[in-house]
Amino acid sequence: MKKLFNKTQTWLECILCGRKKDLLEERKFRCVCGGLYDVKHNLECPLPYVLKKDFYERLELHQSISGVWRYKELIMPYLPKRFVVSLSEGNVPIIEAGRNLEEWVGGDLELWLILEGMTPTGSFKDFGMTVLISVAKAAGIEAVSCASTGDTSASAAAYAAAAGMKCVVILPRGKVTPAQLAQPLVHGATVITLPGSFDDCMKVQRELTEKYGVYPANSLNPARIEGHQATVFQVAQFFNWDFPDWFVVPVGNGSNCSSIGKARRLLLDLKMAENNCRILGCQSLAANPLAESWGRATWKPQERNSKEFLEYWKMLYAPVAVRETTATAARIGDPVSRDKVMREIVASNGRMKTATERDLNEAVSVCGKDGFFVCPQTGIALAGLREAVKEKTINPGSRVVVVSTATGLKFTDSAAKNLAKNIIDAKNCKTDTVARIMKI
Ligand SMILES: [Zn+2]
Repeated sequence: MKKLFNKTQTWLECILCGRKKDLLEERKFRCVCGGLYDVKHNLECPLPYVLKKDFYERLELHQSISGVWRYKELIMPYLPKRFVVSLSEGNVPIIEAGRNLEEWVGGDLELWLILEGMTPTGSFKDFGMTVLISVAKAAGIEAVSCASTGDTSASAAAYAAAAGMKCVVILPRGKVTPAQLAQPLVHGATVITLPGSFDDCMKVQRELTEKYGVYPANSLNPARIEGHQATVFQVAQFFNWDFPDWFVVPVGNGSNCSSIGKARRLLLDLKMAENNCRILGCQSLAANPLAESWGRATWKPQERNSKEFLEYWKMLYAPVAVRETTATAARIGDPVSRDKVMREIVASNGRMKTATERDLNEAVSVCGKDGFFVCPQTGIALAGLREAVKEKTINPGSRVVVVSTATGLKFTDSAAKNLAKNIIDAKNCKTDTVARIMKI
């Protein structure tokens, strides 16, 4: 096959030893030294103001241009357009927090949410999957597979279907919601469930990749990370190329946190944005290997902005046994992208926080009262934010953007269970009975 782009244009580079590989030929996505890869591009961008003008013009045309591929020059500049597999993802709303949420979080913040549940498959995964499947198509791949807690599998199945590829998804039995189970089935994927946790599924996926060469759609394949960066590009453009003071994200396997950090560094390098923004990564008490090891570190928070801290943290890190939680999509005890997550938290002078089960569920119902039905993982981010405000890690007046990672409509079971007590069952079908209940 004729090379679509050469190694001096786009390549993979190990985050630990710097070894370079060909993006379109790589199948294992794990360096011989054990490190993960970054995708690197030799960007020959037009001047920032030309690029910004193009992005604005495409935004005006947003009905027809994907909110991820709007930023193609920064995401996958050398990929020929004929390989792009898009379902019109991106272009999600960025909204100001409602009065109930603002009051619940406290701290007098300028609080915003980017609603990434408003995508084709209802989660942020579509931002990355459109890029991964496009790269896979360019590489001549015919089948992909992934381990998932529910959102990755829905997205992989949809984009593989759009590309005419086969897709196999490996799920922890009984640990994804009925909506998430229906999604890959609807898109014609092969659905395999295992009697274990996500971490067991991920182990199988990794071995399928390493021993059998199965092309992975998990974020271990860094093409996904490239697409997720559109979150940051969209937010920066929304604020006229100013960063918010903080991005707040739930952390499961770590793809979102990794990509937010990578995009943040890229815009700073290109001088398309100039102010720092910090990342607050949040995990639930049921699955908090990163927040837990961060909390165990004895270094002062303000002294953690260094490579030495990363080395120290690696010694502290240990996987955790996951417990039951409403936030099943982040129920991960040994995140694949943990090194990248911590690299970005440290580089941005960020923080990690743990959210309790009670607080994350409360956050979901508070958002509901403002008119937004968010997923429990968004609840983790909001509850972590509230803790950071209480501790005065985040100052009053700060502009904060919370990444709402999926729609609550994928998680109706847990929401309905929590709120079922509020349902009033009338004992007959008479209007008078209903009127009495309404106290009129
Ligand atoms: Zn390496």
